[in-house]
Amino acid sequence: MAKMYLSGKVGVVTGASRGIGRAVAKALAASGADVMINYVSRAEDALAVAAEIESMGRRAVLFQADVSRPDEANNLIENALSSFGRLDILVNNAGITRDALLLRMKDEDWDAVVNVNLRGAFNCTRAAARPMVKARWGRIINISSVIGLMGNAGQANYAAAKAGLIGFTKAAARELGPRNITVNAVAPGFIRTEMTAGLPEGVKERLSERIILGRLGEPEEVAEVVVFLAGDAARYITGQVLSVDGGMVL
Ligand code: NAD
Repeated sequence: MAKMYLSGKVGVVTGASRGIGRAVAKALAASGADVMINYVSRAEDALAVAAEIESMGRRAVLFQADVSRPDEANNLIENALSSFGRLDILVNNAGITRDALLLRMKDEDWDAVVNVNLRGAFNCTRAAARPMVKARWGRIINISSVIGLMGNAGQANYAAAKAGLIGFTKAAARELGPRNITVNAVAPGFIRTEMTAGLPEGVKERLSERIILGRLGEPEEVAEVVVFLAGDAARYITGQVLSVDGGMVL
C-alpha cells in the first residue's frame, strides 16, 4: 500500500467522542495514524468512533479522562504511550461553554470553562511534551476559536480561555521548537456540532451574517486542517493561528 500522510504516527485527541474531536480522530486515522480517543462521558459514542477507526484498518484505544484534572491528563498520555509505544501528535480539542452575561456570570461558570479549555490543554501538553522532546519530533494542535480572536457578548469566560490558548500556543511553540516540536492553534468559526446546536436562534443568525462563505462549517473541514498541521507538509509552520471560519474574522 502507498505510504499515507500520517503513516506510523500516533495521535491523541481529547474530547473525541463527538463533534470536531470525532472528525479529527477519524481524519487522522484516514491519513494513516493510530489514535487514542479520549472521552469524559458517553462511552458508547467513543466506542462507535473507535469502531469506525478500526474499520479503516487503524488501531484505536479509548481512554476516559477529564483533561481539566492534571492526574487524569497524565494518565491519558501515559496510557497512550504504553498502548502504542509512542506519541507523535496531540490535539487539544476538549472544550465546553457556560454562557452568561458578564454581570451574571457565576464563579463556577468561569472556572469550569477556563479549566477545561485552557488548563486542560496545558495539562495534556505538559505530559505529552516529555516523550516528544525525547523523540525530537512532535505536533501539538490546540483547538481555539474565533471567539478568542474577536470576543463575544455572553462568552467572557470562553473568549478568555480561547484567547489564552493562543498565547499558550505561542509560548509553547517558542519553548518546544528547538526540539522539533511544532505547536499551532486552529480557530474554527461557526461549526455545525452539538456545541452550536444549542445556541439561541438570534445568536445563530447574528453569527451567520458574518460568514463570508455564507454557510456554517462542518467538523470535517476543521479536521482536514488539523491533519495538514499534524504532518510533514506543515513542518515549517509553528506558533500560528489558522482560522477555519469561512471568512468570519478578517
Ligand atoms: P462538542 O460539545 O460537540 O464536543 C466537545 C467534546 O469535548 C465532547 O466530546 C466532550 O465530551 C469533550 N469534553 C468536554 N469536557 C471535557 C473534559 N473535561 N475532558 C475531556 N473531554 C471533555 O463541541 P465541538 O463543537 O465539537 O467542540 C470541539 C472544540 O472545538 C472545543 O474546544 C470548542 O470550544 C471548539 N470550537 C467549536 C466551535 C463550533 O462552532 N462548534 C467553534 C470554535 C471552536
